[in-house]
Amino acid sequence: MLNISKLKVANDEQGENLGFDCPICNNKGYYYELVDGKITKFTCKCKPRRDSVKHMRESGLGDMLERFTFKNFIANDDWQKEALEKARKFFKQPDGKWFVMCGNPGSGKTHFCTALAGEFLKAGKALRYMRWVDDGGRIKAAINDTPAYNNLIIPLKEAEALYIDDFLKSPRDSKTGKYRITDGDFKLAFDLLDYRYNHPELITIISTELSIVELLDIDEAVGSRIYQRSKDTCVSIVGKDKNWRLRENQND
Ligand SMILES: [Zn+2]
Repeated sequence: MLNISKLKVANDEQGENLGFDCPICNNKGYYYELVDGKITKFTCKCKPRRDSVKHMRESGLGDMLERFTFKNFIANDDWQKEALEKARKFFKQPDGKWFVMCGNPGSGKTHFCTALAGEFLKAGKALRYMRWVDDGGRIKAAINDTPAYNNLIIPLKEAEALYIDDFLKSPRDSKTGKYRITDGDFKLAFDLLDYRYNHPELITIISTELSIVELLDIDEAVGSRIYQRSKDTCVSIVGKDKNWRLRENQND
């Protein structure tokens, strides 16, 4: 077959339509041209957008990304403004820092952290969403099966950006009201966060019901890493006005 025909066959191949159509690469993200008679592959200009949409689908955040944005959040109170300011600074320069939000259930931390995660996805980062209770539970259950454990944890450890929701959330002790965190939780927390601590280029967002002091009390190795990385980027909404005020009718 002549190179020119091969070129046509290669370029005619269709990729996945991710909600927008690109006639240049037929939705593959790359296309071919003849350079000095040789078929040469080029990256299409739609590739960053294509990656971003793919990352959103693969993030695990689903429709939360549309529901929880910064646009449908009104910052009237000082602490809300401070939270937005810290999130903005973190977004601009996330290297070597973790964005940590401590707050009671219903305080809006999932909304806020999801909105921040969404901004990183829009910026083309491959972000993964990890629910401590569900995803963590699955990983802990695989602890005695090394290949299965690694299959589950490595994508989270190495994710370009990771959002851990409800970090260390566990059943509470009926008498003390405190979390009954197991050795499995500590092991998983250390495994995941120590790796990310040693790779400061990885972007990490954490929401938790625990305060930094409680985290330090519970496990110093994990708590101190979180403290080190979030000294300037930790938002504590424990005991604050919990009314998060959503703009219900604004969808853009
Ligand atoms: Zn394209």
